[in-house]
Amino acid sequence: MGIIRPLDEATTTRIAAGEVIDRPASVVRELVDNALDAQATEIEVSIMDGGISSVEVSDNGIGMSREDVLLCYHNHTTSKISTFEDLEHLSTLGFRGEALASIASVAFLDVMSRPRESVCGTRIVVEYGELKDVQEIGMGYGTVVRVNQLFERLPARKKFLQSPMQEAKLVYRELLKKMIVFPECGFLYRSEGRERFRSPARRSTLERIVDLFGDITDELIPFEFAVNEGRVHGFLGRPTYLKPQKNFQFFAVNRRVVEWKLFSFVLSQVYGDLIPPQRHPLAFVFVEMDPSEVDVNVHPMKREVRFRREHDFQQALVHHLRQSLEKSLALGKSGFFFSSS
Ligand code: ADP
Ligand code: MG
Repeated sequence: MGIIRPLDEATTTRIAAGEVIDRPASVVRELVDNALDAQATEIEVSIMDGGISSVEVSDNGIGMSREDVLLCYHNHTTSKISTFEDLEHLSTLGFRGEALASIASVAFLDVMSRPRESVCGTRIVVEYGELKDVQEIGMGYGTVVRVNQLFERLPARKKFLQSPMQEAKLVYRELLKKMIVFPECGFLYRSEGRERFRSPARRSTLERIVDLFGDITDELIPFEFAVNEGRVHGFLGRPTYLKPQKNFQFFAVNRRVVEWKLFSFVLSQVYGDLIPPQRHPLAFVFVEMDPSEVDVNVHPMKREVRFRREHDFQQALVHHLRQSLEKSLALGKSGFFFSSS
């Protein structure tokens, strides 16, 4: 007799959830992505105990009808793509239709949503994948998603979480990545019941960067150029303004901050020996390119991307960034000094 049997859906969803949701920061990433995909212009994020006890994200986006609220936490349900080919012209952050299902399978999930044109909203309460309650509720338009007691019933997963303080840091880092690439959206962040950061809708990335990091405008060199596949813009830090860590280096493709394995290498080529070892410049490099030139579906967390013509792209990037840097610095034999212009 055979010993292989299919797993039930609750089990497969929970196993797969491990690839998408590993800590509060990934809950925040997915919920904020959904709010941005819903065209929100104001997003509020509140966490308790580093997000382990609760994460709440509310937005003023397009909301969901009752029918959609009842579907949204099921696996592979999405309003964003319908065929694999749609990935070729993807314009949303989400597309896998598995974030809410994954979250629902490892926590207590509460979704409240109201489209602008509806008079009332819908609230669902889901406990570890099981729908417990549906109500019609009065609320402002938009969506509120609350995730309580992450991994409470999965001690094997919970023990991999760090202290609430450490988890809160990771949450903020995730939020930072969103705030930088979506300056036109206002953000409010609360942790442990206290407001920690607020930035209204801004007209430019630079304004948002100043909100986030203080007025470092003079330390930044703006750049913009075309590469074969698209447009690259952003800011490089002056080689005199260095950090001991790489925390201030952001690389985004089509408004998704990603880890591109060659980014550090590109920066080291661009700055060369202008900077001492163990010190790192600021870098905000944003690429907009045809979605068919880049694969974002490498990793369930969408952390990584792959470029179709990676080598060419990397070389073009080094060349243009280096030029932008050189243009704004006058290089001397014994070192460098700033040009007087
Ligand atoms: P995906 O984002 O990959 O489509 P999710 O599981 O994150 O998958 O969400 C499922 C669906 O629920 C989305 O496609 C969207 O239609 C809906 N949804 C989720 N969050 C929101 C939100 N904040 N506002 C409006 N609709 C939402
Ligand atoms: Mg999503």
